[in-house]
Amino acid sequence: MSESPKLALIRAKVESFERLTFDDGMALFMEPDLLSVGQLANEVRETRHGDRTFFNKNMRIEVTNVCVASCLFCSFAKLEEHMPGAHTMKLEEAWHELEKRMDDPGGPPTEVHVVNGLHPGLPFSYYEELLRGFKRIDPNVHLKCFTAVEIHFFARHYGLSYAVVLERLRAAGLESLPGGGAEIFDEGVRSKISHDKATAAEYLEVHRVAHRMGMRTNATMLYGHIETFAHRVDHILRLRALQDETKGLQAFIPLAFHPDGNGMKNMPAPTAVDDLRTIAVSRLLLDNVDHIKAYWVSLTPDVAQIALRFGADDIDGTIVHETIYKAAGTLSPGALGYEELVRLIREAGRIPVERDTLYNVVRELPRAAVPEAALKPRDRERARPKLPMFQVPPSPLVAHADEVTS
Ligand code: SF4
Repeated sequence: MSESPKLALIRAKVESFERLTFDDGMALFMEPDLLSVGQLANEVRETRHGDRTFFNKNMRIEVTNVCVASCLFCSFAKLEEHMPGAHTMKLEEAWHELEKRMDDPGGPPTEVHVVNGLHPGLPFSYYEELLRGFKRIDPNVHLKCFTAVEIHFFARHYGLSYAVVLERLRAAGLESLPGGGAEIFDEGVRSKISHDKATAAEYLEVHRVAHRMGMRTNATMLYGHIETFAHRVDHILRLRALQDETKGLQAFIPLAFHPDGNGMKNMPAPTAVDDLRTIAVSRLLLDNVDHIKAYWVSLTPDVAQIALRFGADDIDGTIVHETIYKAAGTLSPGALGYEELVRLIREAGRIPVERDTLYNVVRELPRAAVPEAALKPRDRERARPKLPMFQVPPSPLVAHADEVTS
């Protein structure tokens, strides 16, 4: 099937490194030929990263789900401490989660990722001490903690500027910010789904301040609820403008809305087609952000795997303790083992690259010469990589990247 004239024009722009416009973004969302949109995004992805596909060994932890805000899409938060299902960890409990992982086969996590509700009753020192404790357990672990929404809340609640909040947390061990809390920037949609937390401008300003301080951050977009394609394009372009200014965004992570147990439970979750299109359009519009992440918890591992052919170059990490999407009814498992992530990437025909939070390469693994599903069941176990990877004798069924491409 030949490309539509509109898509051919967009392809010509992409190939000549001309920046895509709002109208181009809309055309990509409206283009009936999803596979051609995906193919174009895949070409951009391969120009940037080839077959390399990033993942990390991380640990996700939510130390409190008590939250003064009332986002319609949220299945995680409890308004007050004494409500059923509310939890706030003692610091020792949170630290113990990392202690338990220090002897993981293949080594401890390289990243602790903390996201919380906006708790009105904790002192700021709780968060500082939380970070210090993690660093005492493992001085090498990277602390990617607190969304821009949380940083904004800390600033308001404790009477500090964004810069002071970030400086104090950095002095305690904070190294980068996760991307959560962006939702949809459009003020009309935002006022309906999350009216009582950081505005779009405040979210972007926290990231701006963090970037100016030399911190790297990620950014997200919650899609598939009441927003339109125009709102998605607007959201992505606002991030592109911030990135032009600061160059501090590492990765963009489209997050699929999940309806279970929240104020929008009558709405369906987005389809896999919508997921893949959103990943692809993000790759094409965000020409100044290095990485597009297919967050497997949000997409399910199966869709995330396909997304690696629709523009995504990162599949996130092992995670282990995610509770936010779990509460919203995701079909994804709570954790994926290192070997499972490697297998997902290999089966997509890509090269697994374990990274740290800042995208430094920890270990590049050989790609699979033969997709595992093509093997007889009795041969599959033999083809699977064993941990630690570098001690596995070479399997005749697994070839190094250069052997495959030559
Ligand atoms: S999404 Fe975040 S800010 Fe909103 S209610 Fe849930 S925990 Fe609170």
